[in-house]
Amino acid sequence: MNKTEQIISQARKEGRKALLEPEAKTICTEYGISVTKFKVAQTQEEAAVFAEEIGFPVVLKIVSEDIIHKSDAGGVKVNLKTKEEVKAGYSKILDNAKKYKVDARIAGVLVQEMAPQATEVIIGSVKDPQFGPAIMFGLGGIFVELLKDVTFRIAPITEQEAAEMIRGVKAYPMLNGYRNTPPADVDAIVSQLLAVSKLITEHPEIKELDLNPLMAYEKGTKTVDARIILE
Ligand code: ADP
Ligand code: MG
Repeated sequence: MNKTEQIISQARKEGRKALLEPEAKTICTEYGISVTKFKVAQTQEEAAVFAEEIGFPVVLKIVSEDIIHKSDAGGVKVNLKTKEEVKAGYSKILDNAKKYKVDARIAGVLVQEMAPQATEVIIGSVKDPQFGPAIMFGLGGIFVELLKDVTFRIAPITEQEAAEMIRGVKAYPMLNGYRNTPPADVDAIVSQLLAVSKLITEHPEIKELDLNPLMAYEKGTKTVDARIILE
């Protein structure tokens, strides 16, 4: 069994449908999706050590099967610059999680690299009852949430289809750069769409997947949050 199969079968055994962020990101890495460096800490001290290894500033996040939307639960702290800030952030996140749900099962606190700001894009997948797994692309924030400016294709997609998905959104000119935002690496986004296509095609047990957001840089991309829901 490879890592992806192991993670999926472990989740199944424990009756979990939503994979934890570190699990989803491990699977993403196996498929060539570029994610922020991360480690799961079990103590304040460990979180501080991991933060130093990863390099400041870091982001801390709650890892709990009972907390799907981490920021709603006060479970995300960004831009922590020192060991002291990491230790304080660690206990704050645990406090917040307990306030949000008294009996939340906590698997640890994720320490991860803080990705620099860039144009945010979203890659998702859902299953169409008729056509099977479909891939979605859009730009982050209001473009997807408010304007529903997204494109869809049935998986698996070709490189050309991936490029069409990107060019097909109305907000596409934003990826060419505007004002003081540099152009985004469209080829790198194409490669991430193809990686998602391969992952969901090889693993039909994935019901939904969300890379939200991926930072689209001048060179390369980085996914800061990944969610995978199993059938
Ligand atoms: P949620 O479960 O609430 O969606 P996220 O992991 O998406 O939690 O974190 C919330 C927001 O915090 C993200 O949309 C992003 O803007 C910011 N963020 C999270 N992780 C990082 C990171 N590693 N680097 C930079 N920003 C991040
Ligand atoms: Mg998110």
